Amino acid sequence: MSHEAAIVPVPPEAIAELRSIVGRENVLSGIDELLVYECDAYTLEKRAPGVVVLPGSTEQVAAVIKLCARHQLPIIPRGAGTSLSGSVLAVTGGVMVALTRMNRILDVDYANRRSLVEAGVVNAWVTNKVKSAGLFYAPDPSSQSACTIGGNVGTNSGGPHTLKYGVTTNHVLGLEIVLPDGEIAWFGVTPDGGEDVDGYDLRGAIIGSEGMFGIVTRVLLRLIRAPQAYKTLLGIFETVEAASQTVSEIIAAGIIPGAMEMMDQLITQAVEAAYRFGFPLDAGAVLIVELDGLKPGLQRQTEKILEICNRNGAREVRVAKSDEERLELWKCRKRAFGAIGRLSPNFLTQDGVVPRSKLPAIMEFIRATSEKFGLRIPNVFHAGDGNIHPLILYDERDPGQVERAIAAGNAILEQCIAFGGSATGEHGIGVEKIDFMARQFAPDDLDAMRALRRMFDPEQRCNPHKMFPGSKRCSDFTPRKQAAA
Ligand SMILES: Cc1cc2nc3c(=O)[nH]c(=O)nc-3n(C[C@H](O)[C@H](O)[C@H](O)COP(=O)(O)OP(=O)(O)OC[C@H]3O[C@@H](n4cnc5c(N)ncnc54)[C@H](O)[C@@H]3O)c2cc1C
Repeated sequence: MSHEAAIVPVPPEAIAELRSIVGRENVLSGIDELLVYECDAYTLEKRAPGVVVLPGSTEQVAAVIKLCARHQLPIIPRGAGTSLSGSVLAVTGGVMVALTRMNRILDVDYANRRSLVEAGVVNAWVTNKVKSAGLFYAPDPSSQSACTIGGNVGTNSGGPHTLKYGVTTNHVLGLEIVLPDGEIAWFGVTPDGGEDVDGYDLRGAIIGSEGMFGIVTRVLLRLIRAPQAYKTLLGIFETVEAASQTVSEIIAAGIIPGAMEMMDQLITQAVEAAYRFGFPLDAGAVLIVELDGLKPGLQRQTEKILEICNRNGAREVRVAKSDEERLELWKCRKRAFGAIGRLSPNFLTQDGVVPRSKLPAIMEFIRATSEKFGLRIPNVFHAGDGNIHPLILYDERDPGQVERAIAAGNAILEQCIAFGGSATGEHGIGVEKIDFMARQFAPDDLDAMRALRRMFDPEQRCNPHKMFPGSKRCSDFTPRKQAAA
């Protein structure tokens, strides 16, 4: 299948019908308007959809989906478009359904600690809404000030506090979805508290399905009681290896911090230049360890962590003195990707997982890969989970660099798998990692996944050409072809 032949044109009469469903102002079809939607945060591959629709209700979504079924058009669900794996790429054109107008927090049930939200609600808004009542929504991707709950469901997002609290699937009680034939269905706990616990956990199957099972329109979220107290430590180490060893020893000591995040020297320098927190510029790595829970227990755990840091040669360990200092530290960590603009015009964010004990080895491998391909690769990552994020710096104006960035990323992910890990921790497969699916899963496993997908979407029109080998592969796309030429 050639790149060009795959495009499915959206006929003018379908665009006219879309306007009558959602209103003229909520249908974007001009070339300049569509350019905004030609990629997500994975910018190596670009393809504008035929049309973008911004529905305002579940009923409008259902009407749009029925129209797509009638015209046999591809459907691409989209939240904020912060995916780092090209999971929102309109590979064959079609109708992109952006949920950003469906952004209301519909209800907060404080007694039962639940909140019903529309899929376009931005992640951080949920905690902002309930924090005065001592509650919070736990999954906290670093993109949480922009990404949507629908997108979090699509990719089963995690974040720094995943280590203790789990990922999106652990905090979604139930959800409403418009299936690819336009039927509106609810899976899991219903908003009125009804439990749907018999049979398969299809709620769980939908979470992480990257928009291939339909369009999620409303989500019932679990809210958590905010911890009584925090202790946030910043360990400063000469080497990434020493900081990694510290991470392993903290877990081995039976302590599960809320979060353990690491930044290596290059990223620390960029973050310091951007936000002026006071990070040392000559440290090999900095490790953020956050403990949370009941106040009396935290002091003992803090002492134990200080002991482990010192045993591993920490140059210094700072403890945040106030809530403001703690929040400032997290702001720096969560904006680390943004600081990369100071180092390079482009970067490719990788997302692999290794067993924690392999962190020093994978960091060494990344260092060697950086040298081999002549590209700088700073690292900022969820160390407690073994979820690494090497940021491969390149300049897209230089095709040689694009090619080397892709090759370096592939080499790192292959090594993650060789170490017993995975080619993705939280950013999903999208178009970027299709080639890795067959390396991680046996053909039978892939067949079972495809069969499940076909159950939801027999015609495979919902977010087509994602995740599965045999779909359009990343290497079929223009920038990769140019890079390889
Ligand atoms: C700076 C930065 C930091 C990041 N940090 C993290 C992190 O710490 N942890 C993490 O997990 N991710 C992180 N990401 C990746 C990304 O933010 C997450 O994957 C996020 O969940 C995507 O949300 P979104 O609203 O942008 O969804 P999109 O990017 O628009 O979509 C993502 C996927 O979900 C599907 N989708 C979107 N909305 C719906 C819907 N309503 N119904 C069905 N399917 C839907 C799409 O089709 C697509 O497959 C980061 C990204 C950036 C740019």
